Amino acid sequence: MTRRFEGGRLVVASHNPGKVREIDDLLQSYDAEPVSAGELGLPEPVEDGLTFVANAILKAESAATRSGLPALSDDSGLAVAALDGAPGIYSARWAGPEKDFQYAMQRVQDEVGDAPDRNAQFICVLALAWPDGHVETFEGTVDGTLVWPPRGDRGFGYDPMFLPKGHDETFGEMDPAHKHAISHRAAAFRQLVAACFESP
Ligand code: IMP
Repeated sequence: MTRRFEGGRLVVASHNPGKVREIDDLLQSYDAEPVSAGELGLPEPVEDGLTFVANAILKAESAATRSGLPALSDDSGLAVAALDGAPGIYSARWAGPEKDFQYAMQRVQDEVGDAPDRNAQFICVLALAWPDGHVETFEGTVDGTLVWPPRGDRGFGYDPMFLPKGHDETFGEMDPAHKHAISHRAAAFRQLVAACFESP
């Protein structure tokens, strides 16, 4: 049976400031006091899973076990059709140790080259884990196309080259509140809230 979150402290099991900010925003109207893994001094676990779900679970479980608190993780990435879904679970790693997303976006652009298919999807899996080992997972996606050159300096990661379907601003140009309404993370979050959180 789906377990509900009873309120109180909730570890946001990510060391990515862009994600922590978005998850904090999404949690705002719910009975949760978010505290990030970084603030608690928790280590970043090795993401050696082969799927978004596996990586989301291992991050949430690690944070829940070490903190003794429920923990919410996000594993997400950009799946490019012309690259058979790459960079996918390796989206963060394509930016290298310097986490340089100008470089990562350039690599996507170079590898897509002049392929006519510029479709891409952002995928997000959220995992909510409790210290006793119980875990719930939720997946959300958003379809779009890749633009070049990148546009906008809002958001994070690959946002400036992702144009969500039906919109004329990239995630890098869009008001954050608008991104939160339509993103892969928002889609996963809606399911999480419906299953595990009380209404605001
Ligand atoms: P991970 O889930 O920690 O492996 O990292 C996911 C990576 O996917 C991030 O570092 C970003 O590069 C990319 N990514 C995930 N969600 C978004 C998003 O909303 N916008 C832009 N890039 C994203």
